[in-house]
Amino acid sequence: MNILVINAGSSSLKYQLMDPDTKVILAKGLCERIGIDGRLTHKVPATDSKHEFEIPMPTHAEAIQAVLDALLSPEHGVIKSMSEIDAVGHRVVHGGEAFAESVKIDDSVMAAIEECIPLAPLHNPANITGIKACQKVMPGVPMVAVFDTAFHQTMPEKAYIYALPYEYYEKDKVRRYGFHGTSHMYVSRRAAAMLGKPIEELKIITCHLGNGSSVTAVDGGKSVDTSMGFTPLAGLPMGTRAGDLDAGIIEYLMERHNYSIEEMLNILNKKSGVLGVSGVSSDFRDLGDAAEHGNHRADLAVECFNYDVKKLIGAYAAAMGGVDAIVFTAGVGENSPAQRLEIASGLEFMGVKMDPEANNARGKETVISAADSRVKVLLIPTDEELVIAQDTARLAK
Ligand code: ADP
Repeated sequence: MNILVINAGSSSLKYQLMDPDTKVILAKGLCERIGIDGRLTHKVPATDSKHEFEIPMPTHAEAIQAVLDALLSPEHGVIKSMSEIDAVGHRVVHGGEAFAESVKIDDSVMAAIEECIPLAPLHNPANITGIKACQKVMPGVPMVAVFDTAFHQTMPEKAYIYALPYEYYEKDKVRRYGFHGTSHMYVSRRAAAMLGKPIEELKIITCHLGNGSSVTAVDGGKSVDTSMGFTPLAGLPMGTRAGDLDAGIIEYLMERHNYSIEEMLNILNKKSGVLGVSGVSSDFRDLGDAAEHGNHRADLAVECFNYDVKKLIGAYAAAMGGVDAIVFTAGVGENSPAQRLEIASGLEFMGVKMDPEANNARGKETVISAADSRVKVLLIPTDEELVIAQDTARLAK
């Protein structure tokens, strides 16, 4: 069964054609500059080849068409006819309280995703456009929506209610939703498999540390708390996002600098995080290099980030009354032994003991704690596309 996985952003669209049973990826790629001009990068793992094209993409519909043309192309294609695409899985960022799991898309599902637009005004419209574009060029092919928020719908009230007047929850849906759910779910399940234990018996803290970062407490396979909130701006400092801060700062800065709310939000979303603190880069590799050359603020930015991850690990161990495993995943979590070591050191009091040599691994499933560490620390590459493809195959049948 071949599943086309689509992750549509406002001006970009990532895709992957894969067989979820064999986990073989036939092709994958990226459309960029949709609405501007249009560029397609198409990769075929079997031949280890990469093809780049300039193709006009005024809308997502032309981008999807370009993807299908690339998949069907006699030169660099991987299928002979459209009938070889059995179903399409779409990543959708916000499912609100309407979706606690993936769902086959029909008119009522589309309406519910549209209702979530005010909760994710930048993301959901792009996801909807991607779905509609696919429906247009591939009529009759089953489509499934997989939500970033769904895995966190198991959080108890006490974890998702903000201490605001309750009517803002009831009338305006203001609550913690959490994001990166597909990744947290995948790596927590892989962790249980690696440990050879039923997930129902495990307390796991999953650290998705990338350009966007979040930490989740997974108790018995269910998300019980997570660091992102009503929006993906909350929690850890990120590449360019501020993460948690005192809401009083917003009014203070707006008054002093005469900022509009748009300017203030632009600062919080695009100019803050490790970029803001360092003044160097949002990319942790650049920060590591700069810190090695003696740049204090680059070093400080990484230190602040690592410190906040460590605090969340402590908080979630307390929330769950213990922890059996800590998982590191995503760009930084999978590739930065130094940051993993920094985050997990000093946690010996709660049974965490790293194996510095094993920790030198990158990008492959590895136990990175010492043999006598009571809490297992695991490096697990995330695979959101695989989850989307598996859910899609299951629901499309
Ligand atoms: P996204 O949230 O966009 O999916 P990723 O999960 O791909 O992001 O993570 C991107 C981040 O991972 C970047 O900040 C990048 O610097 C970081 N990263 C990638 N490789 C390394 C590395 N070797 N050392 C430190 N950080 C790395």
